[in-house]
Parts: sequence; structure tokens; C-alpha cells
Amino acid sequence: MKKVDLVIKNGRIIMADGEMEGNVYVQSGKIAGLGHLDVAAEKSIDASNLLVMPGMFEAHAHLMDPAETDREDMPTGTAAAAAQGVTTLIEHSHCTAVRSGAEFVLKKEYLENRSVIDFGIGAHFPTDSIDRIGEVIREGAAFIKVFTCTTHGIPGVATGDLYAGMSRYGDTRIPFLIHAEDDSLTASAEKQLRSAVRSDGGIIPQWRNLLAETVAAQSVVTIAEASGALTILAHCSHPEVFKIAEKARQRGVRVWTETCPQYIALKEDDVLTEGAFRKFTPPNRIQSEADVEAIWGCIGDGAYFASDHAPSTRAQKKGGSVWEVPFGLPGLDTTFRFLLDSAAKGRISYPMLVELYSRRPARLYGYYPRKGTLLPGADADIVLVDPDSEYEMTDEMVISKAGWTPYAGRTFRGRAKAVFLRGKKIAENGACVAKPGTGKFLAPHR
Ligand SMILES: [Zn+2]
Repeated sequence: MKKVDLVIKNGRIIMADGEMEGNVYVQSGKIAGLGHLDVAAEKSIDASNLLVMPGMFEAHAHLMDPAETDREDMPTGTAAAAAQGVTTLIEHSHCTAVRSGAEFVLKKEYLENRSVIDFGIGAHFPTDSIDRIGEVIREGAAFIKVFTCTTHGIPGVATGDLYAGMSRYGDTRIPFLIHAEDDSLTASAEKQLRSAVRSDGGIIPQWRNLLAETVAAQSVVTIAEASGALTILAHCSHPEVFKIAEKARQRGVRVWTETCPQYIALKEDDVLTEGAFRKFTPPNRIQSEADVEAIWGCIGDGAYFASDHAPSTRAQKKGGSVWEVPFGLPGLDTTFRFLLDSAAKGRISYPMLVELYSRRPARLYGYYPRKGTLLPGADADIVLVDPDSEYEMTDEMVISKAGWTPYAGRTFRGRAKAVFLRGKKIAENGACVAKPGTGKFLAPHR
């Protein structure tokens, strides 16, 4: 190696296993070396006083494309992601659910020229025949999404069907990403609240209550154990849910937990004043600083972070009663900011941040070591971070079509200065500078 395309010099290189001072060398879109090598470079970037991290891996995002593009679309959502350090994203949307090989191919072809960053696609558990799971796996699905309860218009999967699907396809190593809420518990809570003629924000945590989540999580973990399938509990909201998974992990069950900033950074009582603007499910259940501590305490070896980006505009959130308006929050604009701020405050180390929002999800979904690391041979997906920059978050900074964020008015420390996808700069100072089509569809390797 005599000359490389790019060197990023003098940064503090952060990877999940630890950190080092030095240079990152990029050749033909791949990491060519780390440290201090005796090679010239076509282009050089000084990263003094900056952190140099692998690109973030966003495993749970709904970009609503093509069916509900008034809420979000692939070009806008991936631009928001790129600006905040995310270089790979797995898309799955309930309005464009993929349940067969043919539907998978259609969606892949449609999205091919619409993404700024590399992307995978998640499929939904098929309701007609579990044979379809084999089809989407062959086409390159990143996971199978399962609802245990009918939500967002997606029918809940009966436990028997789930067991059949997970047993039959468990040895393919495809993850089953499970939205766990018990259908009959949420239904009976809904019935009670409606007969009391309630329509205040306070219905949300009572309707989507913790018991419904723990009952479903317990059942899913039991099915995971019986089937042997790789199982991920999506958006865990409370320590009780983590504990169910952790106990099972300790006896060797392949179960993992996903969580999101909103379960730590927002408070349950916000629904009383914010109403539909805090309507997402499972809802946030944090009431005190002790609860915040408790949930951080659950984020260990078996957990990772995702945004669960499911945006609606302000008008859409105000478009009906709290029962009627869509669930979900915008999250791609703020997940990396929240994690950088958490690291700046010493909640997690920077290597742990990389583990939780880059390497671990990349591994679980079959994209490591191409993604999730800066080791030589990996794609040159790189984020340069100024760890000390402090700023106030505003709605105006949001790129998502949502146009608002639940974190407006908060101070965050640490920001993405520049983001590279396969060696090409795609974002700078909070703005996306790449065109849709820059990112490519990637199938997982298992
Ligand atoms: Zn979701």
C-alpha cells in the first residue's frame, strides 16, 4: 500500500472494544488501516480533539415509504439519520408491510434509489402461511417483525403460529423482533377506559399497561426457549421486562433486549400535559430519577439501542382524539444526540455507546464485521464527533418530516461533525450533503 484515498488524522478512535489515538486510513470505500502507517493519502482530514467512531447502526425505524409519505419518506428519514451519525438502517413500516418474497423484492426495488445510507429491510410475520418466512429469508430480510397484539393495523400473531414459525426457521439465525403486549389485557383496559368516557392523555399508560407488556414478554421468552430461535424484545420500556429476558439469557435462551431513548429521557406523566405527542407503545413508564437509574442498570450484555422512529407531524398528532391519532415519536434526529450526551455525562463510556448503537445491532442482524467497526476490511462508515460541543435542541433542527421533537429545549453535549459512508462524506454539521441513491440495499450474512 503506497497511497490511500483518505486519511483521518490525529483522532481519538473509538471502537466497542476500546480506544486509541491515531489515524484511520481509507481505500476504495473500506478501512485500510489504523494507527500510524507510512503511506501517503490523496486527501487528509484533521480530527484533532474529535472522536472517530464507526457509523451507527439503526435497527428499528419506520420510514413509511411509499404508503404514508406525508409522515416520512426514505430520502428524508435517511437524511435525518445520516446527519446524526447513522450509516446503516433497517427499514420496516407497517403501512408497507412485507410478508412474501414477491413483496420483499418490490419494496427493495422501490427503495433502491431512495436512501442516503446503506439499508436492510425487515419483513413482517406472514399471516397466511409460515412458508413465506422462508421466501423473505432467501430474499435477504434482516428480521421477522412480530406483533403479539393487534397494533397499528397489523394483526397480532397467535402464540401457536409464532411457535410454528420460530421452530421451523430458528436454525436460519434470522432474528424475530417482537413487539410484546398482551392483546386481551390491552383490550380489556381499553374497554374500561372507553366506558368511563376517558380521552385524556392519562389513558395511554393505563391502556398500554406494564402488565400487558410483561405477560407478553414472559410468553415470548418461553416460546424462544422452546423453539431455539434468536429473539429480540423490541422497545423494552421497564426494568421488569429486561429482567424477564435476562433471567432467560442466564439459562442460555437466545433472547436480546432493544430499548430507545424515550424510555429513559421522557417521563410517564408527560402524557398528562402532552397527550398525543407522547402517544407511543409501549409507553414510557419512568417516574423518578431512581427509575432512570434502574433502567440504565438493565442495559448490559444483552441490550442495544434503536430509535423506533415512527414520526407524525404536529397536525397529524392533533388530527383527532388521543385514541385515534397515530402512535409513535420521531427519533432518528435525536437518538445519537441522546447517547452522546449520556456518554458526555458519564452514564456510558464511548466504547459502550459504539457497542450499543453500532456493533451489537450490526452483529445481531447479520451485518458485522462489514458494519459496526473500524477494523481493516470494514466499510469506511465513519462519524467524527465533537464531544464537548453543547447546544440546545430545537424543532428547527429536526430533518424528519415530523418537524418536531419531544426533546426541544433540552441541552445536549456532543455532536456529529462529519459522517462518511464507504469513504464518501454524507453529512456535515447536522446537515445531510448526499443524494438519495448514495446508500445501497444490503442483505445480511448469517
Ligand atoms: Zn416500531
